[in-house]
Amino acid sequence: SWTKVCDRFKREFGDDAYQTWMRQLAYNGIDSGTVELSAPTKFVRDWIQRHYAVRIQDFFTSEDPKVKNLAIRLSVRREIKRPEKESEEYDVPARVAVSSPPDEGGALDPKYTFDTFVVGKSNELAYAAAKRIAESSEVTFNPLFLHGGVGLGKTHLMHAIAWEMRKNFPRKRVAYISAEKFMFEFIAALRFKDTHAFKQKFRTLDLLMVDDVQFIANKESTQEEFFHTFNALVDNRCQVIITADRSPTDLEGIQERIISRLGWGLVADIHPTDYELRLGILQSKAEQTANVIVPAEVLEFLARRITSNVRELEGALNRVVAYATLVGRPITMDMTRDVLQDLIRANDRKLTIDEIQRAVADYFNLRLSEMLSQRRARNIARPRQVAMYLAKQLTSRSLPEIGRRFGGRDHTTVMHAVRKVEDLRRDDSALDEDITRLSRLLEA
Ligand code: ADP
Ligand code: MG
Repeated sequence: SWTKVCDRFKREFGDDAYQTWMRQLAYNGIDSGTVELSAPTKFVRDWIQRHYAVRIQDFFTSEDPKVKNLAIRLSVRREIKRPEKESEEYDVPARVAVSSPPDEGGALDPKYTFDTFVVGKSNELAYAAAKRIAESSEVTFNPLFLHGGVGLGKTHLMHAIAWEMRKNFPRKRVAYISAEKFMFEFIAALRFKDTHAFKQKFRTLDLLMVDDVQFIANKESTQEEFFHTFNALVDNRCQVIITADRSPTDLEGIQERIISRLGWGLVADIHPTDYELRLGILQSKAEQTANVIVPAEVLEFLARRITSNVRELEGALNRVVAYATLVGRPITMDMTRDVLQDLIRANDRKLTIDEIQRAVADYFNLRLSEMLSQRRARNIARPRQVAMYLAKQLTSRSLPEIGRRFGGRDHTTVMHAVRKVEDLRRDDSALDEDITRLSRLLEA
C-alpha cells in the first residue's frame, strides 16, 4: 500500500528526503499496471523522476510480489489557471507582434520545448543557461556557446529557447538558423548582390541562434560575414547563442579572433548522458506515447544498453513501440530483445567488473568513488558487497582479482561479502529482488 511504500522510502532515504520530495506526491491509484502519482510542480516531478522513481517503483513491486512489470507514471497536478491579467507581456497576442525574422516558424520543432527536455547532471548547466536567457529580459552572458556531441540535445535546447521567448516576450525578434543555412543565404545574397538586405535581416534581431557552427570551419568568406554579424549584434546588446559539436578551442579551421570572441560569454558543455538521465528521458518519452505501456524493466534495459546518444535511445524506444502497436501485443522484454537484436549485438561485450560496479552504484544512487571507498556506512558497504557478489557470479574473475579491483581489498573480504550476500538473499526479500533485477539488467 501507499503508506508502506512511504515508510520504506523514509527508511532508505531518510526523513529529510521524505519531507522534501515524497510527501509532495499524491497517490492516485493503480490503473492497468501503472501506478499513478502526481507532483505539485514539474520541478518536483522531474527531481523525483531522476532521483527516486526507480526505487519507488521497486517498493511497489516488492509490496506485492505477484505483480510483475509494474510501471509508475509521475505527472504534474494541474495548476491553477493564470489570472487573466498577469503582465503586459502576456497581454500582447503573439500573432499581432510577429515580425518575420529569418527562418522563424517552420524550422522550429514543436516537440522541442523545455517541458520535454529532461535535465540531469550532464546537461544541467546548458539547461540553466538556456532557461535563463529565455526568461530574462536582460543580457547576462553574451554569447552563450553550447557544445556537446551529436544527439545530446543542443538543437532541442535552442528550439526550446525560441518557443519560450515567443511566449514570454512576443515582441522580441528571435531567429534560429543552422550555420549551414546561414552560409547558403549569405552566398545567395552575394550572388544577387543583395548583401545589404542580408545584413539588415540579421542585424535587427534581439536573439540570434546559430546551430552547428563547426559547419563554417574553413569557409572563409562565410566566416568573415558571420564574424561581422556577430560583432554587430553583440555590440547592440543582442543575445547570441551558438552551438557546436566541440568546444571553441577545439574548433579547427575557424579564425582565432572568432574563437576568442566566442569564448567571451558563457561556454556550457553537454556531457554524455549517464544511466539516470537516459532512464529519465525514456520515462518521459514513454509517458508521451499514449496507449502503449512500456514496462519499467524494458526502459531500464534500454537505458543500460543504448549509451551512444539520446537520438539512438529514442529510436530504439520508438522501434519497440511501433512494433508492439503493429502486432497489437503488449511490450515485453522478449519482444524488446527481438526487435532490437542488431542494436544490442552492436553493443555486446563481455561483462566487466567495471560495468558491474557502475551499474550497482547507479542502482543504489551512489557515486562510484564512494562505493569503492573504505567507508563502512551500511548504505555504502552493502552495495559494495552486492557488487562483489555480482562480480563473482557474473564474471570468471578470481577472488583476489576482484578484491584488487575493489580498492585493493583482500580476497577474504570478497569471500566474506559473497557469503554475506548469499545469506541476506534468503532473509531479505527486497534485497533479493534488487539483486535479481541487477543481474537481469547486467546480463540482458
Ligand atoms: P544535437 O543537436 O545535440 O545533435 P538534438 O537536440 O537533435 O541533439 O537531440 C537529439 C534527440 O534527442 C532529439 O529528439 C531530442 O529531443 C532528444 N533529446 C536530447 N537530449 C534530451 C533531453 N535531455 N531530454 C529529452 N530529449 C532529449
Ligand atoms: Mg543539432
